[in-house]
Amino acid sequence: MGEFDLIDHYFKRRFEHLSRAAHVLRGIGDDCAVLAPQPGMQLCVSTDMLVEGRHFLPSASPEGLGHKSLAVNLSDLAACGAQPIGFTLALALPSVDDAFLDGFSRGLLQLATEHGCPLVGGDTTAGPLTICITVFGEVPTGLALLRSGAQPGDDIYVSGQPGEARLALEAHRGHVRLSAEALAHAQSRMDRPTPRVALGLALRAVATAAIDVSDGLLGDLRHLLKASKLNAELQVADLPNLNHLFNAILFIANNDVDVGQSAHLAPKTTQDQMLGMVLAGGDDYELVFTAPPEKRTAVLAASAAAGVRVSRIGRALAARVRLGQADAVGQVNLVSNGCHVSADAFGSFDHFG
Ligand code: ADP
Ligand code: MG
Repeated sequence: MGEFDLIDHYFKRRFEHLSRAAHVLRGIGDDCAVLAPQPGMQLCVSTDMLVEGRHFLPSASPEGLGHKSLAVNLSDLAACGAQPIGFTLALALPSVDDAFLDGFSRGLLQLATEHGCPLVGGDTTAGPLTICITVFGEVPTGLALLRSGAQPGDDIYVSGQPGEARLALEAHRGHVRLSAEALAHAQSRMDRPTPRVALGLALRAVATAAIDVSDGLLGDLRHLLKASKLNAELQVADLPNLNHLFNAILFIANNDVDVGQSAHLAPKTTQDQMLGMVLAGGDDYELVFTAPPEKRTAVLAASAAAGVRVSRIGRALAARVRLGQADAVGQVNLVSNGCHVSADAFGSFDHFG
């Protein structure tokens, strides 16, 4: 099968029904896709690349990979409060592997169908397995949620349960042994993250700032705080905890679970290890967002409308200004039982760090 047959079989025909949407004027098959966002809407665009050996193992299921590569992109749209309207797929493949392409395009198609998000174009080439997706979304003019909109005094929230994907990874590394049920749950959070698109939409006129958690709750919160020129205080007791899975942990190996970049700072207790996974686990694809205290009811309504739990975990603080010099921003004060805990141990992932 050549390049054009491959595109036609796995991508053009399989996804054709999604392209019948009114806003897709031209999809796969022309030099450009032509999309027509609705009047009064702005376009949100995001790209994510997944490279074999770096973002996924050669043993990854093709179907799961199809799901995840679109999910991580939709998660970026969710963080902006954007409605997905289409995506492109640039694919480098070592060879035409029908079993891979079949599974991959099915996984992709299933999530694309759930979100009514048509595949409108792409590029296909020979090369080391690399998947690059660009998503397009629309948001009413001026309503895109940005990292930079948080205000001093805003509440800080996180959706769902960060840490589960990392728990699955630790189980795979043999650091943690889980019951079959708990492992299956954590595993599905790692392999098939759910992009919080409905929550992002419901938060459009509610949240002041948002970011999706790909590299770890604390690290991504710091990005939001820096962009908003703020600091924050988080209550450890209010973090969504992993107790439901913690109870199912059968065994934790003696060698410490190494969280974030803090290999030298070995967490002492299992509770610390769990906290590390929640704060710095990564691969969660939950949303961290801020909203003023008077919007608490609206946040709960958004959570209910989207069918996703949200936890209020802290608040944003103004950076102090001394002698005309602003304090550092992006600092997070972790409070546990009224005491300050250093957040330094919980870094976030950095490909070149
Ligand atoms: P061009 O050389 O003009 O860029 P191509 O021959 O690369 O066109 O691609 C032909 C058509 O197939 C284009 O519409 C392109 O967007 C689409 N396409 C190519 N690869 C993919 C892919 N992996 N997924 C979806 N569409 C693709
Ligand atoms: Mg091309």
